[in-house]
Amino acid sequence: MLLRDLPSVDRLLQALRSALGAELPHALLLTAARAELDAARAALRGGEAYPSSLEDLTAAAVQRVVQALTPSLRPVINATGVLLQTNLGRAPLSSQALAAMAQVGGGYANLEYDLVQGQRGSRYTHLEALLTQLTGAEAALAVNNNAAAIYLVLLALASGHEVVISRGQAVEIGGGFRIPDVLRQSGATLVEVGTTNRTYVDDYAAALSERTALLLRVHSSNFRIMGFVHEASLAELAQLAQQHGIPLLDDLGSGTLLPTTPFGLAAEPTVQESIAAGADLVTFSGDKLLGGPQAGLIVGRKALIAHLRRHPLMRALRLDKTTIAGLEATLLSYRRGRALEEIPIWQMLAAPVDALAARARAMAAQLTHAGLVATALPCESTIGGGSLPGATLASYGVALTPNGVGATTMAARLRMCTPAVVARISAAQVLCDLRTVPVAQEAELVAQLVACYTR
Ligand SMILES: *Cc1c(COP(=O)(O)O)cnc(C)c1O
Repeated sequence: MLLRDLPSVDRLLQALRSALGAELPHALLLTAARAELDAARAALRGGEAYPSSLEDLTAAAVQRVVQALTPSLRPVINATGVLLQTNLGRAPLSSQALAAMAQVGGGYANLEYDLVQGQRGSRYTHLEALLTQLTGAEAALAVNNNAAAIYLVLLALASGHEVVISRGQAVEIGGGFRIPDVLRQSGATLVEVGTTNRTYVDDYAAALSERTALLLRVHSSNFRIMGFVHEASLAELAQLAQQHGIPLLDDLGSGTLLPTTPFGLAAEPTVQESIAAGADLVTFSGDKLLGGPQAGLIVGRKALIAHLRRHPLMRALRLDKTTIAGLEATLLSYRRGRALEEIPIWQMLAAPVDALAARARAMAAQLTHAGLVATALPCESTIGGGSLPGATLASYGVALTPNGVGATTMAARLRMCTPAVVARISAAQVLCDLRTVPVAQEAELVAQLVACYTR
């Protein structure tokens, strides 16, 4: 085509309408037609061969309409072997949580309504009993995420006062969330004690004054310092805090309600342990090892939780009904003693390497049969998401040797599939770790791999 042969917007619109068949809004089609004509003009001016015909142009405009109607947020098959990948949405939810969210979200609920009294109730009552029973704390509160939980505590308890923290814990969590910055934002003053690698309880004691409002401990969730290191224990800090009548906040990051050591992992601190050791408040995430929806959980002393609940910012941080429903269902799995069976993150953590190896061999055989160069290989999964830094789990995956194109191109093609596949690249091969791929997604993964290779 030459520039002067390009159809008018109206002509392209007409072609687009008959190609799509369905009744679609004029504005949607018009935007696609204009954008495609602009692209065609630019291409022709640049000396490209596109478009060669009206059909060409129409097909491209149809693609624009399809694209505009495809959700931006969509499912991904996580073949990276990183169990809690923040970029991929952290914990997948249990079927129990999903069912509760759909049921409560699709209708009305007693979110802030007392069904017994027939009058206004509180949205905070739904999770409190479960959280206190599971953690041993006196009271509990849930907010938007753990960052919000920490911010609320600092704002409510320490604004205009000092917060004492070990120098080794004044860290960045990720995504620009830095403990010193959050402290400043809350109006509190940071008092760093000790050194990067060694801090003793006496360092904290020496920093206490009438200006101190809070002792803060932050779990080193995304890094590890090795060698000549020391941090004061939570019990030591709790004793010091109690002696001086100052609350102690323990930010666990991920935290966990179940021990991680039975799965060959280091011990991620449990929320119960922090409460038992004497922390006055403990904060942790809903979507890390808890395995629920995004939320921040605060458990601890009744008077402190009541104070947080009354804070004016609380409303800006509160949870919606579907998240409360998902969290409650997740916590109920723990309460029934069924967390390992029902919560995906624990199923993945607990999957025996032998079972993963068997799945990998079967998948490699299937792919080989389809003409791909595929082998089952041992690999290592990581936990990610601010828990157990450096810890790995023995796993098994399928490695594919790309034909013709490089592994990077192949990985890029896989990301463009529906559903998208995010895999690892290792030794010039595309590696799919099966620990993070549910059995139910295996057939889909095989189909995408075959489609991308035989293209
Ligand atoms: C992940 C993490 C946070 C932030 O939690 P979000 O739920 O992502 O807001 C805070 N502190 C620590 C130690 C963490 O690991």
